[in-house]
Amino acid sequence: MSETHHSKALILGSGPAGYTAAIYAARASMEPILVKGLQPGGQLTITTEVENYPGFAEAVQGPDLMIAMTEQAKNVGTIMFDDTIIEADLSKRPFVLKGDSGTKYTGDTLIICTGASARWLGLKSEKKYMGFGVSACATCDGFFFREKAVAVIGGGNTAVEEAIYLTNHASKVTLIHRRNELRAEKILQKRALENPKIQILWDSVLDEVLGDSNPPGVSGIRVKNVKTGDTSELKLDGVFIAIGHNPNTELFQGQVKMDNENYILTKPGTTQTNVPGVFAAGDVQDKIFRQAVTAAGTGCMAALEVEKFIAEFAATIKAAE
Ligand code: FAD
Ligand code: NAP
Repeated sequence: MSETHHSKALILGSGPAGYTAAIYAARASMEPILVKGLQPGGQLTITTEVENYPGFAEAVQGPDLMIAMTEQAKNVGTIMFDDTIIEADLSKRPFVLKGDSGTKYTGDTLIICTGASARWLGLKSEKKYMGFGVSACATCDGFFFREKAVAVIGGGNTAVEEAIYLTNHASKVTLIHRRNELRAEKILQKRALENPKIQILWDSVLDEVLGDSNPPGVSGIRVKNVKTGDTSELKLDGVFIAIGHNPNTELFQGQVKMDNENYILTKPGTTQTNVPGVFAAGDVQDKIFRQAVTAAGTGCMAALEVEKFIAEFAATIKAAE
């Protein structure tokens, strides 16, 4: 028979938002349950140096920062599960989440901190060579391209950081951006522009990934200039797609209000969704800042709002008795 675990404060996701919510909820004696999901530690586990999370004079490694957050949440009393939620019912309280393991998790309140996942271009050839030279994670796969030529698609912080990181392994990195100006922070732009291994192809998009079938692998790419329409081919071994992220909100489609890009809508200045008792924190509800520190900040807000919600809920029940 499947198990059921109940908490006053159920937290979904183990990125900076989830762990911060857990730390605050545990310290408020709410005995939170946190379900970690497929990416324990969240997005920062796939990066290297984090230079802008306060408290570290020397850059901290993303995975190390997330281990520290896990330990902190555990030490203050968070109950954690290595499970991924595949079904959610928010139609009545307690809210019910069903895990991939068959376990059920119920909560008087729910804090959704499911973050975001890499966006893909949607090319058939991109899908065909995924794992065979096409990747969305330089820190995971960069090692396979030692002394080889690679391309990175995108112009934001992720793309520029990935391009810089890849120069540790690859012989040459071509950064391909659809405009003639990078979106990334100035400090990262400067580092990329000064790096002799990085070449930037402006006003260009990836038109097709070219490759071999036997054995399967990327052999090059076709690139299109968006201003002239001209196409050209580059010989290389790997392509890293870094064009942003989509919020992980599929589970809650039709159950909580979202915007047209599927980010969960919260009442301004709060983490409250349109469902009383359901809160959302971190990248899942933030398409503007999307930083570890803002995710942690909204995680804190959510836990404080949960505490208030539970106190008011208890008072309503008492008054009705
Ligand atoms: P995430 O970190 O996205 O975590 C989401 C969590 O939800 C994961 O644990 C996942 O397993 C869980 N989850 C999802 N679906 C389910 C489910 N169905 N069931 C259970 N759990 C689920 N920000 C900075 O401030 N500084 C940086 O230097 C920086 N570098 C970055 C480098 C890269 C390569 C990337 C991709 C991002 C970087 N960011 C950086 C952004 C930062 O990582 C995010 O803003 C932050 O991680 C968001 O935290 P979060 O808690 O909202 O969600
Ligand atoms: P992002 O900031 O949304 O940038 C996405 C980039 O991809 C943009 O340059 C965009 O071009 C391009 N792009 C989007 N769709 C495309 C398409 N279909 N074809 C070609 N190019 C496309 O995403 P991100 O870089 O992943 O960053 C996400 C968040 O995490 C940001 O808030 C970022 O600050 C944060 N982050 C922070 C750090 C750090 O602080 N060091 C590191 C990584 C990420 P346009 O510019 O033309 O829109």
